[in-house]
Amino acid sequence: MKENWNIETQAVQGAYWPGNAEPRVLPIVQSTTYRYDTCEELAKVFDLEQDTFMYTRLGNPTTDAFEKKMAMMEGGVGALATSSGMGATVLAVLNIAKAGDSILSSSTIYGGSFTLFSTTFKDLGIEVIFFDPDAPKEEILALAKPNTKAIFGETIGNPLVNVIDFEKFAAVAKELEVPFIVDNTFATAALCKPLELGANIVVYSTSKYIDGHAQALGGILIDGGNFNWDNGKFPCMTEPDESYHGVRYFHDFGKNGYMVKARAQLMRNFGFTPAPFNSYLMNLGLETLPLRMERHSENAMKMAEYLENHPMCAWVNYPGLKSSKYYDVAKKYLPKGQSGVLTFGVKGGRDAGRKFINSLQMVALVTHVADVRSCVLQPASTTHRQLSDEELVACGVSADMIRFSVGIEHVQDLIDDFEQAFAACQK
Ligand SMILES: *Cc1c(COP(=O)(O)O)cnc(C)c1O
Repeated sequence: MKENWNIETQAVQGAYWPGNAEPRVLPIVQSTTYRYDTCEELAKVFDLEQDTFMYTRLGNPTTDAFEKKMAMMEGGVGALATSSGMGATVLAVLNIAKAGDSILSSSTIYGGSFTLFSTTFKDLGIEVIFFDPDAPKEEILALAKPNTKAIFGETIGNPLVNVIDFEKFAAVAKELEVPFIVDNTFATAALCKPLELGANIVVYSTSKYIDGHAQALGGILIDGGNFNWDNGKFPCMTEPDESYHGVRYFHDFGKNGYMVKARAQLMRNFGFTPAPFNSYLMNLGLETLPLRMERHSENAMKMAEYLENHPMCAWVNYPGLKSSKYYDVAKKYLPKGQSGVLTFGVKGGRDAGRKFINSLQMVALVTHVADVRSCVLQPASTTHRQLSDEELVACGVSADMIRFSVGIEHVQDLIDDFEQAFAACQK
């Protein structure tokens, strides 16, 4: 399979190619198990000597094709699909950090990831040191500890739609000799390829743009194969794993070591496995990703401009707008488009915003983002409801913020719906 195809071609033709008279479209292999001729052959699979399927918790042909296509589009060496985006973040971090370790994380991340880091990881003995992603490099470096194992950020933060300075994050990671993990959910490889910008591991909630149709939950972690684990900081990658008869992931599998460990050790033990049917749906969505991201970005830009000029809009934040603090960073790292999510406030604050949302007729109130249908949400009263006021401030979520996920409808119909909702909330 050609790795040098453009991403549009990879999306439709990548990672699955039928043999003579085989199904043209990636089939759903709805089987938990796989038959072997001899005990000796199956033993080789258990010894990680043979890369075939044995049990769907660890691998499945439909999921495998989806993983290979994602890795190809992202420019990684391998990928591991999970049952949700949260599962991907959990595995990406736990694969290299354990009790007594710490990681650095941008504070402007998805609310669920923030809570995972600030509570569950804390309970597990992993300290997450949050930092302002706009802080200077030296300030972030000063927060690191000898036990720091990774730096984490989101290409486009959910819900702040702030864009990270890849160069700075990569420089911090390099100086600390730890991997740079990026959640690329909002941008996708169609708009940004973090592995080409100094990142080492990419995680996704594929429940969003990858699926694109709001039909299946999923996640994935992708390894760039571009980090040297043999620097003394990652004994889990270089020392024998007693739970896997002494395998040494980095020494035995080289640039695939991180991925082999995540699958053979953590997926084996945690079991965040996607259903083959969901992998089929993910692959189906992925086929049109580059096309959809173009329209999402185009519509979002037009809606951002419309809102910026609307007398009843208090503020609007979209990295494609010249008025955005992240305009220059977005031009640099997201030149093809700045994706489909923007935030804004209605004049009159939180209550006016609620009235506005209640008045929308087509754009739906949904706890979701990033599918073909436009939707809105007030983070402070929903996704970020569990955060304290101080944590809300740290995440940059204002009480009046409306998160608007711009779909691929005709933009005029979106404007018409907004016009009548603005009018209705004046009454
Ligand atoms: C939704 C989301 C997640 C969590 O993904 P799920 O599939 O809902 O588990 C993680 N990161 C970002 C940026 C998200 O938007």
